[in-house]
Amino acid sequence: MSAAASHGTDPFAETEDQQALRALAREVADRELAPMARHWDETEEFPQASWDAIRKADLFGITIGERYGGMGLGDIEGTIVLEELARADVSSAILAQLTFNGPPRAIEHLGSDALKDKWLPMAASGEALFSIGISETEAGSAVTHMRARLTADGDGYRLNGYKNYVTGGHKARACLVWCRFPGSEGAKGIGAVVVDLEAPGVTMAGTHVKMGLRGTSEAELAFDDVYVAPEDVLLAGDPSNSDSFKTLISHINHERCGNAAMCTGAASGALEYATRYMNERTIGGKPLADLQGLQWKIADMATQLDGARLLLKRAVHLAGPHGTPPALETAMAKTAANLAAKFVCDEAIQLLGGYGFSREYPVERAYRDIRGLCIGAGTVEIQRNFIGSQVLRGARTTSPGWRNPLIG
Ligand SMILES: Cc1cc2nc3c(=O)[nH]c(=O)nc-3n(C[C@H](O)[C@H](O)[C@H](O)COP(=O)(O)OP(=O)(O)OC[C@H]3O[C@@H](n4cnc5c(N)ncnc54)[C@H](O)[C@@H]3O)c2cc1C
Repeated sequence: MSAAASHGTDPFAETEDQQALRALAREVADRELAPMARHWDETEEFPQASWDAIRKADLFGITIGERYGGMGLGDIEGTIVLEELARADVSSAILAQLTFNGPPRAIEHLGSDALKDKWLPMAASGEALFSIGISETEAGSAVTHMRARLTADGDGYRLNGYKNYVTGGHKARACLVWCRFPGSEGAKGIGAVVVDLEAPGVTMAGTHVKMGLRGTSEAELAFDDVYVAPEDVLLAGDPSNSDSFKTLISHINHERCGNAAMCTGAASGALEYATRYMNERTIGGKPLADLQGLQWKIADMATQLDGARLLLKRAVHLAGPHGTPPALETAMAKTAANLAAKFVCDEAIQLLGGYGFSREYPVERAYRDIRGLCIGAGTVEIQRNFIGSQVLRGARTTSPGWRNPLIG
């Protein structure tokens, strides 16, 4: 792709290449994802046709380095594609999210050459799905309470632990497992390893039964004395400090921006649907769109959505082509996108009246899907804890070319 840009005065203006990527993702979403979205939701089948369509369009590789068969693009392009896919079907968009912002990104940024050579070509070509195992039954928000642990075995380790809510874990080829290295306590000594899910000792114990995101299951994975070779260590935990844990946490900012992009995408789809409906649906000979009370709903929906999209653009633009989005701006973007999507999808249901409540119309599905995104990748409450404590400490947000003088 050429680097030609058409910036004008908009600091977030998309380049011609980015516009072309958006158009391609929208075409795939409209043609292949949208017609099947209800089917995946009703049947809870894995959206294989979506996987095949995303793969055929070569979209899985966009954030993976060219050396491994990808396009070497960054978070801006990742969010563009995720927005467009989620506008049609969030369950399908999550497949791309796991590749763009899940283990492959962590391996590329933090891993050894051996790990990159082993896994990245598979990720870029869409040959394999990857999953993330952080949460445990008693360690979700309280992640430093995790129990998954490595014990030394020769040059390598043995992994014992149980991870729940592993998105796509039932279909994935590998899982990035956060775990304790020998001697670890609290946040100290937490690191991460990449586990081949075909290895002896790995069991897929089940999948959660959920209200939304029903095409892509969240799996429960048990690791029983699974051998972890030294070359499978992504980031070793040192029991004397929490450096590796902090690095892993900051890397989640990619996933949080992807989560926010799926929210703004799904909310855009719901807003578009509601707008069209209001123009077509007549009551007593007049379209719903003529009712000022309902116009105000549309105004609030559009305003919240735009606000969230701007915060998200700021976070991913600050990351630059190969960096990581900054924590405070990312937390604000995720919070705003989660809340905007919840509000917009809820109001879209209301605007469609009884039809909005029907599973024959897409807006209630969008609501159920984004509801899960308000919990995954760090809940809204956890983002608020972080934002509040940072602001109270005098932290200031940054935008491209501008530092916020008001906070702090
Ligand atoms: C759709 C979906 C996909 C997911 N995918 C993955 C995945 O791929 N890999 C993975 O490892 N995990 C995944 N998760 C798990 C997710 O990260 C956890 O559910 C989340 O971190 C919350 O943890 P919990 O469920 O244990 O809730 P808890 O931590 O028990 O929280 C319960 C409630 O208390 C609030 N709360 C907790 N602590 C505080 C606090 N200190 N201050 C204020 N409020 C607080 C929470 O916000 C929440 O409202 C996924 C979850 C969902 C819903």
